[in-house]
Parts: sequence; C-alpha cells; structure tokens
Amino acid sequence: MSVDSALRASLRAQAREFAGDVLAHARAVTDPLPTATERYRATRPFYRQMVEAGFLRRLIPQALGGDGTGASATAALAEELVAGDPSVALNLFSTGLGLAPLLRAGSPAQRARFLPPFLATTGTPLASLALTEPGGTANLDEPGGLRTTARRHDDHWILNGEKQWVSHATGWDGTGPDLMTVVCRAGDEPDPRRSLALLLVPGPIQGLVVTEILEPLGHRAHLLPRFSLVDVRVPTANLVGEVGDGLGIVGAAFGGALIGACAAGVMRAAFDVALQFARTDRRGGPVPVIDHQGVGFLLADVKTRIEAVRSLTARACAALDRGSPGAEELSVHAKVFGSETAVQVLVDLMRVIGVDSYGHHLPLAGLIQDALAYPLFSGGNIGFRRRRLQALLADPAYDPWSTMDED
Ligand SMILES: Cc1cc2nc3c(=O)[nH]c(=O)nc-3n(C[C@H](O)[C@H](O)[C@H](O)COP(=O)(O)OP(=O)(O)OC[C@H]3O[C@@H](n4cnc5c(N)ncnc54)[C@H](O)[C@@H]3O)c2cc1C
Repeated sequence: MSVDSALRASLRAQAREFAGDVLAHARAVTDPLPTATERYRATRPFYRQMVEAGFLRRLIPQALGGDGTGASATAALAEELVAGDPSVALNLFSTGLGLAPLLRAGSPAQRARFLPPFLATTGTPLASLALTEPGGTANLDEPGGLRTTARRHDDHWILNGEKQWVSHATGWDGTGPDLMTVVCRAGDEPDPRRSLALLLVPGPIQGLVVTEILEPLGHRAHLLPRFSLVDVRVPTANLVGEVGDGLGIVGAAFGGALIGACAAGVMRAAFDVALQFARTDRRGGPVPVIDHQGVGFLLADVKTRIEAVRSLTARACAALDRGSPGAEELSVHAKVFGSETAVQVLVDLMRVIGVDSYGHHLPLAGLIQDALAYPLFSGGNIGFRRRRLQALLADPAYDPWSTMDED
C-alpha cells in the first residue's frame, strides 16, 4: 500500500467511526424540531465536533496550512460522513465550497487574513459561496445570466442583488457566515467573461437582509435562505483574482467528483438498511425476503450500481490528483451518473423494503429526500453539467480517450 493510500484509509476509518458514533444520532436530534432554522442551529454541536476532529482542516490543502491531501482523500471523507448524516455532512462541505475560491485563486494576503479561523480545530466557522439567484443562474455565462452587481466607489465595491439557496448565508445567528464569497457582475461590461467577479465579504455583513427561509424537500437540517444584499461595502482588496475571472473560478469550485462521493455515501446508508431487512424479515412468509429471486436480484443489481459510482468517482479523483487531462470529463460523469444513480437506487431499495420504507420511522424516506438534491444542486445536471459535457464533446480538440490516462 502506498503512503497516500495508507493515509486515505486511515482518514476513511476515522471518518467512518465518527459517522457511526456521532453523526448517526443527528437526525434524531434535528428531525423533531419544527422550523428549518431550529434544525440548522441544532446541528452546531455536531459541526463543532467535525471541526474538532480536524475534518474542516482536511478541506484546506497542506500547502495553505491545512491537512488536505487532494480529491481522493476528500471523497473518502465525504462518502463516510454522508453515510452518517447527509444533512450535517453537507454543512461541512458547504463551508469547503465557500472557501474554494479563496483557496484556488485568493492572494497570499487574502488567505492570511481570512483563512485562520478555518484552520483552527475549535469553534464553528462557516463559509458560503453565494452564486444562485432568484430567476436562475444556469446561464451564468450569458449576458444577464447573473444580476447581482458591484459598482466601484473609490477603494470599495458596493454590492447589490438577491440570492437564494445559498448554504450558510445566514450564519448561525442571521448576520451572515464568517466569510461569504459573492459572485457578482462588476462594472458595466455585459460579457460575463470580462465582468464576472468574486468578492470576499467577512461577517457580520452590514446590508444582508434575509427575506425568506426556504423549506427544502431534503437536507432538512441545512439552512437555505433567500436574501438581499443592499449596498454592501467591500474593500477592493477583497476581489479574488481579477474582474472577469469569476466564471472560471466558480466552475472549478462546484467540483463534480465530490457529489459522486456524496451519492455513494447516501446509497450505502440506504443499502445497509435494505440488506438487513431482506436478510432478516420474512413478512409472514416461510423465508427471509432475500431468498425471493426478485428481491435478491434487485439488491445485487443495486450493489453493482453503487460499486460503479464508487469506481467512477475514484477515477475522477485520481485524475484530479494527478492533474490528468481527462479529470474535467470524469468529474462531470461522476456528478451526473452518481447523482442520478443514487435517486434510482433509493427508489429500488424502497421497493425491497416495501411500504414501510415510505414512513419516516425508517431512514429511507429521509435519504431519498436528501438524494434528490444531488442531480439538482452544485450545478443542475441539465442546465450545467450535461451542457459542460456536450461542450467538451463538440470541441474539435476533444480527445475522447484522454480519460484513459488513469488506467
Ligand atoms: C441543498 C442545496 C444546497 C445548495 N447550496 C448552494 C450554495 O451554497 N451556493 C449556491 O450558490 N447555490 C446553492 N444551491 C443551488 C444549486 O447549486 C443550483 O443547482 C445551481 O444554482 C443551479 O441551479 P439550476 O441548474 O436549477 O439553475 P436554473 O437557472 O434555475 O435552471 C433551471 C432549469 O432550467 C433549464 N435550463 C436553464 N438554462 C439552461 C441551458 N442553458 N441549457 C439547458 N437547460 C437549461 C434546466 O432544465 C435547469 O434545470 C444549493 C441547492 C441545494 C438544493
């Protein structure tokens, strides 16, 4: 076993133990609470324990002071934590998403100023990436595709606009996260390739007005608000890269391979429940239901699909870690195939258990609600991911088998 894979195996083992000991109890704490805000706030002790376990530091590369060792290790962490509780795990990985632009394209001065709270193994620091807007952002690369504006005023940018579905945008107390990275259109240039920009906005945010708390189908302990940014003043020193860099940085931040790992985690959690049921429950018949060929074949087929998603995700992560030319394509496949397979697998596992899976006394009903987000978020599969794949295939320079560099 190489040093890298030994380290990854040890991280996976630590995360799996944490998921079983800590996260597996989160749903029982959060689910009975009546509002999304209460459920979200109830995750704070779990979030603190993830920080103390060093999992937030794992999302920050070693070169920048964290313990991150690349996409494969992050995927192992995501798969295990999601298998414990998808909602609470998403709280951690949303902070990773919020930090992604700073990690990828921030200046040394910006990192020195904003990263330290996220490198500590204490507290509950939150970061947020504010892209999505009412009216949609799938056409981010078209003029008018993004409507939040930044106007230059001396040594500040003045931000105005509306956002929605942004994880952690409220922070724990409604005043915003410790760091919000806002995607906006800077100046009057209509071409997004020359105008999209990212601004780092530390909390508490003067001018953040939460207008609504959305009630999502799944991820019930995750808070997704709609909010306005009203004359938010941001020093020009907080611009990430240059005006016009926004499109590339945002595209890279919404990494697809991680969603493949989340999909694997949610499928595993559901599979364990369905397998246990099938092996032990007879439903009043003479044999455990797994002995009925229809059930046995369905479970076998589901396991094949889970392994396929795990393998594809592992290849995408290996390509990302090596900087291989096929990394972008494999990541899109992992996101699209992994997320859509997860939804189908959850439906099939509910069929194995039958009507009892339809109640919230078993975890499958909650897990399918969580899984339904995967094809829709981090760039919806239709509007964004599939289109990215289509663009890749249509490019005359495209080499369909550059992905085989991994084999
Ligand atoms: C749990 C959860 C957490 C989230 N966290 C965040 C976050 O932290 N930050 C954040 O910014 N967002 C977040 N989101 C929003 C999420 O990332 C969205 O997926 C993303 O903004 C894109 O939405 P969309 O594709 O539905 O875009 P929309 O613009 O709303 O498009 C909707 C639909 O229109 C069609 N469409 C539009 N344009 C095209 C096109 N050019 N080609 C083909 N079809 C098209 C497609 O059918 C598409 O599905 C979160 C969402 C959820 C559910």
